[in-house]
Amino acid sequence: MARLVIVSNRVAIPEDSGKSVAAGGLAVAVKEAFTSYEGLWFGWSGKVVEDPSEEPELIDRGRVQYAVVDLSPQDHREYYSGFANRALWPIMHYRLGLGAFSRSDYAGYQRVNRIFARALAKLIEPDDIIWVHDYHLLPLASELRGLGIANPIGYFHHIPWPAADVFNTLPASNDLLRGIADYDLIGLQTDPDVHNLSRNLIDELRAIPLGGGSLMVDGRRTRIRSFPIGIDVAGFKEAAENAGANKTVRETMAGLRTRKLLIGVDRLDYSKGVPERMEAVDRFFASNPDQRGNVVYLQITPKSRTEVPEYEELSREVNETVGEINGALGEPNWTPIQYVTKAYPRPVLAGLYRAARVGLVTPMRDGMNLVAKEYIVAQTADDPGVLVLSKFAGASRQLPEALLVNPYDRFEVAEAIRTALYMPRGERIERWKPMVDRMTREDVDWWARNFLTDLENFRTIEREPPRAAAAAE
Ligand code: UDP
Repeated sequence: MARLVIVSNRVAIPEDSGKSVAAGGLAVAVKEAFTSYEGLWFGWSGKVVEDPSEEPELIDRGRVQYAVVDLSPQDHREYYSGFANRALWPIMHYRLGLGAFSRSDYAGYQRVNRIFARALAKLIEPDDIIWVHDYHLLPLASELRGLGIANPIGYFHHIPWPAADVFNTLPASNDLLRGIADYDLIGLQTDPDVHNLSRNLIDELRAIPLGGGSLMVDGRRTRIRSFPIGIDVAGFKEAAENAGANKTVRETMAGLRTRKLLIGVDRLDYSKGVPERMEAVDRFFASNPDQRGNVVYLQITPKSRTEVPEYEELSREVNETVGEINGALGEPNWTPIQYVTKAYPRPVLAGLYRAARVGLVTPMRDGMNLVAKEYIVAQTADDPGVLVLSKFAGASRQLPEALLVNPYDRFEVAEAIRTALYMPRGERIERWKPMVDRMTREDVDWWARNFLTDLENFRTIEREPPRAAAAAE
């Protein structure tokens, strides 16, 4: 059996006891991929040290081996906080004004990709298939190819791929495009993302479409397809069913009494539209004064990337918005917005989603958004809540029965909140049923299997000399 090598910026190493660490979305997905492969997971240890070793630290945990490297303070500043999170992240999320490009950050990004490739190349065996994750590692395949690695290499991009005119504003754009074409298979979240990247490669690098999503770029064949990432539906459903036993969930429900709950759960990130959503809730209370005191909005927003200045600024903005709205509307016995910055384990979130009549998922732009999927899966079949979902979240393509909104229009979002709160049970069930069925079919296992089957096929079929290339010679 082929060995699977996963590469991602961060690696979640389970404890010695076999217990998993608190898992992010990627960790859940990677765990799923390893159920049918033995493997290696390579990436950054999460540690920043003065003089990092070039040799990865190897940790064995049964079928999966972990290999991690540390970063120097300069690497961390330039590769991670700088180019990945202050240049690529905003541009990929259509936030041109927030993109902060610096040549030294870009050089650091390339350097760390080279360091990773050198450390990883020594661990690769001839039959391995390699699956690289996310925007921190766009140039990794080129670096590995430069070291003679000929194994199939796939890449999955967890965030949006923007329209060419947006991506091309990045000074390094063509360089990055050339690099990504060194992957054999490129997975994106949605068909519009596939369209954006394919057009970009055709227009900028004169890539030749070969049909079936394949493109010839500089004499090399790559394939671009959408693979919308799913969640662990069975695990999440079970967590939601058992969440009544959890103290936080029980006390939150008791505290609501007869009030209805609106819930939002997002990392603190400008792509998530948190202040804009709060303003929409404010708008809702302004035009529905009879609902004051009857509805509570709980926003759970763990902080992220606090070393990046734009996130500090956002944190201030959200604090001010919450303060203003609660100050203006609140009563001694009612606080309209409950805002918490603590992170909660998924089983607790599952119970809170289930208790909420409305799930508010209104990012300004999001590759997928797993919270939207989790909210749907957590509902009870005979009395489900209503999902208000941004049409700019990748998840909206698989959840068209949600109330789809434009998050830039706070009047529209306020109106959707009203519609959701007044929606009769019959209509709630009618909308929810096809969504939960789709989520169950298209879960994380389906996602990993589809991607890996495509990458495996590449080994057998796509490696034949491409006909279009032969014809062009
Ligand atoms: N999450 C969590 N605890 C929290 C907040 C979020 O475990 O306090 C999880 C949430 O359940 C979801 C993930 O973090 O699985 C967020 O994924 P999403 O795709 O919505 O957004 P991202 O943060 O990856 O941009």
